[in-house]
Amino acid sequence: MRAFRRSGNFSRLLTATSTPHSRSVSTATASTPKALTSVLIANRGEIALRVGRTASEYGIKTTTLYTDPDAKSQHALSSPYALNLGDPSAYLDGGRIIKIAKQQGCEGIHPGYGFLSENPVFARECTEAGLIFIGPPWEAIEAMGSKSKSKEIMTAAGVPCIPGYHGENQDPEYLKDQAAKIGYPVLLKAVKGGGGKGMRIVNNPEEFFDQLNSAKSEARNSFGDEVMLVEKYITTPRHIEVQVFADKHGNCVALGERDCSIQRRHQKILEESPAPNLNEEVRQDLWEKARAAALAVNYEGAGTVEFIFDNDTGEFFFMEMNTRLQVEHPVTEMVTGEDLVRWQLIVAEGGRLPLTQKEIEERMATKGHAIEARIYAENPDMNFMPDSGKLLHLRTPKSTESVRIDAGFIAGDEVSSHYDPMIAKLIVSGPTREAAIQKLRAALEEYEVAGPITNIEFIKRMCVSPDFISGAVETGYIEKHRPELFPNEPLSPEVFAQAALGLFIESASKSPFNPFSGAVTASAGFGPSYQAREFNLINIPADGKEGESLSVKVQQVSPQQYDVTINDHTYRSISASLSPSTATLTSFYPHTRLSTTFIRDEDRLTLFQQGRQYRLRMVMPKWAEKALGVKDVTHSVLAPMPCKVLRVEVSEGGAVKEGQPLVVIESMKMETVIRSPKDGVVERVVHGVGDICKAGTPLVEFKEEET
Ligand code: ADP
Ligand code: ADP
Ligand code: MG
Repeated sequence: MRAFRRSGNFSRLLTATSTPHSRSVSTATASTPKALTSVLIANRGEIALRVGRTASEYGIKTTTLYTDPDAKSQHALSSPYALNLGDPSAYLDGGRIIKIAKQQGCEGIHPGYGFLSENPVFARECTEAGLIFIGPPWEAIEAMGSKSKSKEIMTAAGVPCIPGYHGENQDPEYLKDQAAKIGYPVLLKAVKGGGGKGMRIVNNPEEFFDQLNSAKSEARNSFGDEVMLVEKYITTPRHIEVQVFADKHGNCVALGERDCSIQRRHQKILEESPAPNLNEEVRQDLWEKARAAALAVNYEGAGTVEFIFDNDTGEFFFMEMNTRLQVEHPVTEMVTGEDLVRWQLIVAEGGRLPLTQKEIEERMATKGHAIEARIYAENPDMNFMPDSGKLLHLRTPKSTESVRIDAGFIAGDEVSSHYDPMIAKLIVSGPTREAAIQKLRAALEEYEVAGPITNIEFIKRMCVSPDFISGAVETGYIEKHRPELFPNEPLSPEVFAQAALGLFIESASKSPFNPFSGAVTASAGFGPSYQAREFNLINIPADGKEGESLSVKVQQVSPQQYDVTINDHTYRSISASLSPSTATLTSFYPHTRLSTTFIRDEDRLTLFQQGRQYRLRMVMPKWAEKALGVKDVTHSVLAPMPCKVLRVEVSEGGAVKEGQPLVVIESMKMETVIRSPKDGVVERVVHGVGDICKAGTPLVEFKEEET
């Protein structure tokens, strides 16, 4: 990637400390570019590291913030100046953060994305405190912060908007009338919403009020505001957005577009640039409208204008403007060869945009295609439910010119349930879209994460999905391609064989008492030191439903050789060794060599083999279960993830039907309804409203109905 020239006119013109002034940055610094020397990064995780990287590259001193659960996180450790805010939610405490910035002698604050980045009050207070807010003027954030107000401004500026009701009347009956006028299906959206939250599709008048209440409740919890808008729901839409940049001198450019149509829960998973199968005229029109949108609110800095593109009609409509740098900005960096954080700093310093529209287009003509995959701790097979926990093992693909990893974690770190479960972003580029997808798949096959469940296996399947490869993307892609994206393949016997070999060798080297290791069985015919062990293993299907357990017998036949029997088949004389430093089990079978990363966490095994992850569980033999007095938990409904109980929908002694809601939990700002797996009677409500539960904690115990 090309490094920036540091324009001569910023260099050391002014001293580091600024005198407090209450004028907005836009007027104060338009004619006097001033080099920033110290910045406070008001964010966490990969974005905090990302901003810090560019700032350090240009000699800017950075101060980072952290909270109690983040004390040892990578972003907190990345700067010698790191301040503890304490409470997990304190990243939202703008007043305190401004005070810290002043005390630390910082000249500017970079808000990253999420948290305070689109908070106009915070941006204004920064400016009034004499700090440079590295983002647009607060007036522009305010204008775009409301999904309804922004649509009025856009309509006035000649930018097409989706038909809908964006007004103040919030009477449910009135909103329902508006929905009827627009025509079903409609989409309800929290006017203050973001991150896909506070949004519900309504297919018919019958479900209108239910969906309205549910959208409002989520909006209240996430944004403290429940004002809703109703708009036409586009049934086969693409999400196409334009990266814009404006400076304080009236220049405004579009740095190409990104297609972010591959989404779950209205949140992006894959983002790419350029958008596939897009007519060149439409592309130019999108850029033009995006610039018009930015200019209409006197924009400065990095922003994204999001459009919804109707695949049925070829029309596009303004959806919203995100007045910040976005999660997916690296895609644009890959196809332009520019550092957008650097551009943000230049604009904040009062400098001019480094490239003209024409230069950007010339640049993009040579850079090919880029794709970003968001790596999340979540379970795609369980409706992409967030997961958390310690990263027991982490191996990332090699970074190169065309493979970039923006991560906030290293092995051993904890993915906290307090925050967004994004672990990393993997960004690749290639001369063509096909080449980029190919590279993404190859990189994902090298990506190993054990601990929390991730979406890596799912994204690998996306990479080979024929319609995705052909560029036929739309926001409903995942739903429409369910059978191929969520296949139910049986595991090959070699996976079980490798698991059992790993366990055998591991327990032989450590030999602690381990009830899972199975009974030492007879070893007749071999020397006394050659043991045989039997392991009961079960595939952990991602959808939580358990399969059959399989028994695997390992018989050692010489110091490094084993016979492995699964069902009735025996693999003879496998030579196998386990390297503790790399956790790699290398086995030579009669027919093949297998190299497997073997990670054990108590009764859970994670294996990486031939580019795929496998998760297995050891089942305790019955004798050990009895000996240890293990309690039967089959009649408890367990918390599927760390969570807080929001509502309890049943009472003790009450009858429940299969599928009936039992409790509603909240995890990572998302509500999940826990339903009864069977017909029965509630025996005990174990946890009440407000309780914080670990994954696996019983929530409700019930007695199955006798039939
Ligand atoms: P993008 O459009 O860049 O994908 P998202 O809408 O997914 O951005 O949000 C980016 C990040 O900001 C995510 O981590 C998300 O959880 C967080 N976020 C989005 N909106 C809000 C909000 N209103 N309050 C707090 N965090 C938010
Ligand atoms: P957020 O602030 O949460 O990002 P957006 O308004 O940007 O909310 O919408 C998020 C996603 O929801 C879009 O990317 C798109 O997939 C879907 N969406 C939004 N509006 C519509 C609509 N009118 N019809 C169909 N899908 C929509
Ligand atoms: Mg959006």
